[in-house]
Amino acid sequence: MTQRIGIIGGGFAGMTAAYELGKLGYQTWLFESAPELGGLAGTFPIEGTRLERGYHHWFTSDTHIVAQMEELGLGDRVQWIPSKTGWFERGKIYNMVSPIDLLRLDTIPFIDRVRLGMVVAYLTYLQSNPKNLSKYEKITAANWWRKYGGNAAWDKVWLPMFRGKFGTEAENISMLFIWYKIVLRIGSRRGVSKEELGYPHGSFQVLIDALESAIRKQGGKICLSTPVKRVVVENGSAVGLQLADNEAAQMAQRELGGTDGTVRFDRIICTAPSFATLKIVSDLPADYVARMTAAKYMAAVLVILKMKQSMSPIYWLNIPDRSIPFVATIEHTNFISPEVYNNKRIMYVSNYLDQSSPYFQMSRDELFKAYVPHLKKINPNFSPDWVEEMWHFREAAAQPIVPLNYSKMIPPYHTPLRNLYLANTTQIYPEDRGTNYSVRLGQDIAKMLDEDVKSRTWGNN
Ligand SMILES: Cc1cc2nc3c(=O)[nH]c(=O)nc-3n(C[C@H](O)[C@H](O)[C@H](O)COP(=O)(O)OP(=O)(O)OC[C@H]3O[C@@H](n4cnc5c(N)ncnc54)[C@H](O)[C@@H]3O)c2cc1C
Repeated sequence: MTQRIGIIGGGFAGMTAAYELGKLGYQTWLFESAPELGGLAGTFPIEGTRLERGYHHWFTSDTHIVAQMEELGLGDRVQWIPSKTGWFERGKIYNMVSPIDLLRLDTIPFIDRVRLGMVVAYLTYLQSNPKNLSKYEKITAANWWRKYGGNAAWDKVWLPMFRGKFGTEAENISMLFIWYKIVLRIGSRRGVSKEELGYPHGSFQVLIDALESAIRKQGGKICLSTPVKRVVVENGSAVGLQLADNEAAQMAQRELGGTDGTVRFDRIICTAPSFATLKIVSDLPADYVARMTAAKYMAAVLVILKMKQSMSPIYWLNIPDRSIPFVATIEHTNFISPEVYNNKRIMYVSNYLDQSSPYFQMSRDELFKAYVPHLKKINPNFSPDWVEEMWHFREAAAQPIVPLNYSKMIPPYHTPLRNLYLANTTQIYPEDRGTNYSVRLGQDIAKMLDEDVKSRTWGNN
């Protein structure tokens, strides 16, 4: 008999799991608490099109999601565009695309720039052997760089960037993070002095829509605005879900039967962040909970400005100066033509922070007021009346922060509760989280579930 699979979460991991299982003939039900699919890569309407709430692009190494685009007939939508990355320090914008740009970064002594470039080249071309994982996950980036790359490179280049992304954890992040980023980003460039980034014509929404319609065509059900309140466990097995009391829940109840507000499933996949998973799943043993909580999450706050004028010629402007209360500006219309947005200029002001930070609590207008004097540092002509419209989004689970030796702590996909699978961004390793890896995660979990069913080795058979 066809197994019924309940999937919690409608981001790229959940949507891909539903799509892949649908291809294999499973009956899938996907529950998403938000009113729309997409999760962290979700979009909002702007100037007659859609845009991601948080800036998104692909690297050339993001092959899983590009292949998924092709499979869904969207191959011709994938655009590869040269990126314009920069660095803002001491009131000056530096280009940061090629090795020559690095040599021009006069915020550190010339000799340190040469050393930095040589170390990056060494990591890129000599160290892409996966065996290095165990070597680099044991040591913090801070210790490694101070020893091999020099104090200046760490203190003036990496540390400010790490503080921006990882806050107070900056000194504790493993060297693996830098090594793998370098291997993937520089190693996958089409040329050393040029980086191309990918973006789907029509925004990430085109892939979200294509996945949604493919899942529905397979007979899969998608219930939006339907938070899962509880994973129901009986005798050590996950047997069903309790849903919030709304229309989608009633529809599921009518089709699936069940009593006491519980809809029953043969197997359940949870793609929610670990802290959200722990709110709905009790009965997990302490050692698994310890693994689930080994990675902490950094939150993100995004302010998006729709402007009459451009701020700078740069797409991605890193802001290492920590007296400036944001970590980067991402001027989307220096990447995708402003013509797509009726010639408006669109810029994200990005912040990664702890949820306890006052900036996480601030309203859109409070944030804008706090940011304006600093935006004027980047472009002294900037004035609030450039801004025609503004949006503000908060993401609690923006970035998992993994500790040293994390390969030994990753929570397995099979949870200790039979029939319950966990598939979230804390299991993406050694890569950094991203839509490509959530697609891969969705594919892997669907494959594993199918193998479990066929081999009768784990869960309901
Ligand atoms: C600011 C920012 C910039 C980024 N930039 C890029 C980029 O440039 N390129 C890139 O590839 N990636 C980028 N990412 C990362 C990328 O968006 C994520 O890695 C990816 O979308 C995660 O997908 P997911 O399905 O694993 O998780 P999520 O998208 O987090 O999906 C989990 C879903 O579960 C739902 N959920 C939680 N609890 C429940 C419940 N109880 N019941 C029902 N549903 C529930 C949530 O609402 C959510 O939709 C960025 C992320 C951020 C925040």
